[in-house]
Amino acid sequence: MLPPLTAKLSPHGVLGAWQQRNAEATIPHCITQLETSGVLDNFRRVVGESGAAYRGFVFADSDLYKVIEAVAWEIGRSGTDRWDAWLDEVIGLVGRVQDSTGYVMTWIQGVHPEKRFAELEWTHEMYVLGHLIQAAVALDRAAGRDDLLRIARRFTDLLHRHFGPGREEGVCGHPEIETALVELYRHTGEERDLTLAQRMIDLRGLGLLKTGHFGAQYFQDHLPVRQARTAVGHAVRQLYLNAGVTDLYLETGEKELLEVQRAQWENVHQRKMYITGAYGSRHRDEAFGDDYELPSDRAYAETCASIADLHWSWRMLLATGESRYADVIEREIHNAIAASVDASGTRFFYSNPLQLRPDRYDEENAPRERAAWYACACCPPNVARLVAQFGAYVASEGEDEVRIHQYADADIDLPAHLGEGVLEMRTDYPSSGTVELSVRGRLTPGVRLALRIPDWSRGALTPDEDGYLRVDPRPGFRLELDVRPRWTRAHPRVDALRGCVALERGPIVYCVEQSSLPEGVAIDDLVIDVTVPPGPELTVHLVEAPAGLYQAAERVTTSTALAVPAVPFATWGSTGSRAMRVWLPANDL
Ligand SMILES: [Zn+2]
Repeated sequence: MLPPLTAKLSPHGVLGAWQQRNAEATIPHCITQLETSGVLDNFRRVVGESGAAYRGFVFADSDLYKVIEAVAWEIGRSGTDRWDAWLDEVIGLVGRVQDSTGYVMTWIQGVHPEKRFAELEWTHEMYVLGHLIQAAVALDRAAGRDDLLRIARRFTDLLHRHFGPGREEGVCGHPEIETALVELYRHTGEERDLTLAQRMIDLRGLGLLKTGHFGAQYFQDHLPVRQARTAVGHAVRQLYLNAGVTDLYLETGEKELLEVQRAQWENVHQRKMYITGAYGSRHRDEAFGDDYELPSDRAYAETCASIADLHWSWRMLLATGESRYADVIEREIHNAIAASVDASGTRFFYSNPLQLRPDRYDEENAPRERAAWYACACCPPNVARLVAQFGAYVASEGEDEVRIHQYADADIDLPAHLGEGVLEMRTDYPSSGTVELSVRGRLTPGVRLALRIPDWSRGALTPDEDGYLRVDPRPGFRLELDVRPRWTRAHPRVDALRGCVALERGPIVYCVEQSSLPEGVAIDDLVIDVTVPPGPELTVHLVEAPAGLYQAAERVTTSTALAVPAVPFATWGSTGSRAMRVWLPANDL
């Protein structure tokens, strides 16, 4: 395993500026929403401090825990104390709600006490505990505060007593507890937390869940984990499970787990990933579709699925050291996840389709505009905790090298065995592909930099087999990545995209919006002229639309050339979008 290094991201860079916005706008917004959406009242009512009815989904407590985790990483990043009193208040509240057995989950305690550990397929109790554990570990690790950790460990103790070895066999309908228990083990060194994570992974696929009409695949309970080589069912559940399984491999070294996770990863990323780094092609059951089933307009593409995949891919990167995993993380950060929150940091997409039809208005499943919050609010606090933690995904250490996975304006403290001082990375990436690297201090003799060469920039730079270019960082070293715009096609088996191209530039996926087209030009009549090199202005022709829905199979006639602007997919919908497309038909097919 490659131990991660923490990078301090500069507010002058894209990712650092995003972290700043996260701290100044997104986290405060989430804290306000915890109050207005009823999440905190759900806790208060259990202990008689509120007369309000329970609000939200059964797992609403996890919204609070994700926001606490975001606050924790933000304290670790900036040292802020602005939320100390808020943490006192909400952690005190969680502590009062925790009962004498260690149990704390407001929907069960306050609404359906008879369902306690009785309907694991739907109650999300271990899922919620998983988020509590992650928040508690983050707070202890990043802010040196262990009050929430004590609460989380009391609940975990109960889980051991109820579901530990020799006790009841049970797994949660929504994976999350597995990765959380491994992290708790890493933090406390308690072997039994790792054992419990292993037990829950081993018990999956044995039919313990009463899966009903959703079927076992929805819950990834159709096959034992070691036999499940393709991603199925609810996308977020599969991806969180995979993060947990890869975590288990990282601690136990069990080769069979890594081998099956490699197969899963190839299945997801070669057959089921949208170009924006999004997952889940069906609204129904929030599911991965079949292989190559990637419709742009009907994409579910939940923000949480991209975040879950990032967690998993990061663990695969630490396990293998191969750049393909960091390539995908970059795709997710700069596209699907970037699109999920607006420039104000306070409005969010839940679903991230790659096409909006002009006549579509399905507020429930595909809103035209980002919303301040959602009835199921899993995504916004998930974005907040991820962004606060961006600095953890930039670099890691090797035996005799510093590995750079993500390019961003940042300073990275050198660990003692690699040198002393700071590795400075100066760049306006991805605006340009120029990255300047220098050491303030010194590297231990023989230590090199291993720089990820993205798969789209393989021209002049020839990396080693793992996708990293090894260099000796002489003063003034510059990496030049090729960020010229390029056309991308999908595999021909993706029926929904056959005959289409998308514009990419560096890690950025572009789209065309109806709102930026000339009056009278319909986005659905555009045909890209791929004989003209791509640029921010696309040269297109307009299809002369026939009158009927079907006609004789002759080549469609098009008009003369027209230039239209493309914008990053991440920014779409910010100016009252009426329609949008990432993929457009090409004129050479
Ligand atoms: Zn979500």
